[in-house]
Amino acid sequence: MRLSQVVIERLTASRTAGLYPYNMPLERVNRTHVRLNRDILLMASSYDYLSLIGDPRIEQATIEAIRDHGTSTGGVRLLTGSTPAHRALEARLAAQYGTEDCVTFSSGYFANIGAMACWGAPNTLAHVDILSHRSVLDACTLAGSPIRRFRHNSAEDLRRRLARAGDQSGIVFIESLYSMDGDLAEISDIDQVASDAGAPLLVDDAHGLGILDPPRDHHVTAWVGALSKAVPSNGGFVATDAENADRIRHLAGPYIFSAAAVPGAVAAAHTALAVIAEEPWRRERLRSNVRHLVVSLGHGFAFHDTRAPIVPVRYTSDEQTLRAAQSLREAGLFVTPIVSPAVGPNQPRLRICVNTAHRLEDLSRLAEAILKFDRAERIDRHSLSQTA
Ligand code: PMP
Repeated sequence: MRLSQVVIERLTASRTAGLYPYNMPLERVNRTHVRLNRDILLMASSYDYLSLIGDPRIEQATIEAIRDHGTSTGGVRLLTGSTPAHRALEARLAAQYGTEDCVTFSSGYFANIGAMACWGAPNTLAHVDILSHRSVLDACTLAGSPIRRFRHNSAEDLRRRLARAGDQSGIVFIESLYSMDGDLAEISDIDQVASDAGAPLLVDDAHGLGILDPPRDHHVTAWVGALSKAVPSNGGFVATDAENADRIRHLAGPYIFSAAAVPGAVAAAHTALAVIAEEPWRRERLRSNVRHLVVSLGHGFAFHDTRAPIVPVRYTSDEQTLRAAQSLREAGLFVTPIVSPAVGPNQPRLRICVNTAHRLEDLSRLAEAILKFDRAERIDRHSLSQTA
């Protein structure tokens, strides 16, 4: 069956069962709560990990950028869309990643496409982690690079595959922090394998930016990322050496054929990066919040690392996952259910995103509601995590 048919059938089934959980009209109430129709719910699936949406300094910078430069650049980066603000953001990101240069885009999705326009080609195999984000896969497809998926986080599997590919050129593309599972890449092992094979290594740091420190010694060729997670804006970037940045500016479709990020988004991102650097307490509190949630849930849940603010809660079927999400909504808690094709078949889950501003009592309430549903459904967490 075609994927589109599977998606439509699932959509129809969830609507018929009254469990459709997507495209909800959510209005922001404050840093941690949203209004859904008449109900106020705790938002526990927002990428606003460091709780910077609504920060007055970021809003002020955005307003000033709109006053000074307007609401649009009036063009694409290559032609009329490169303002001093874009270059300043690029300089800041390059300094953060310790690269010579950086190229920004209007989204993280575009940044991956831009990166692959530089390193991909029909005769270059793209060795990607099996848990890679759709934007990485789409970027490989658009570049014409044949996709080879290696076992999640397995430097050994990657080594075997690179050896099997022999002289055929290849690149390796991983994420720093996997967005569906909340686990961290084994960057140094994978880096070593890629560098032994002479393959460029690209790291999508969309969920790591502001949350993790990039490793000190590495051979990473390019850091790709999004300015839409801990950095509460829109946009994406590729931080790399000057020569490849220049190539990207002349090869990447989203840079040449799609409008530049708007000045307000650029200013918001720039100011947010400064705030994140000045306020390490945000990251520390985020980590203690994650620890609190993990401890409150107790044994049997498959967690990876409390440095990661993403906590997946697995269920046995899509239908059970949708019901779990609904039962949480009824308890005043908003958590997004994720089903295939966003994750592998038989791996449905609720994806909790812990934020800095979550109060411990909110996280306790969330854990209690999850455990209550578990008891009602007699879910055996130990056997579920073994099938993970
Ligand atoms: N890479 C990863 C790993 C992501 O999770 C996402 C978005 N969720 C993107 C890239 C795309 O970022 P954006 O939403 O800014 O286009």
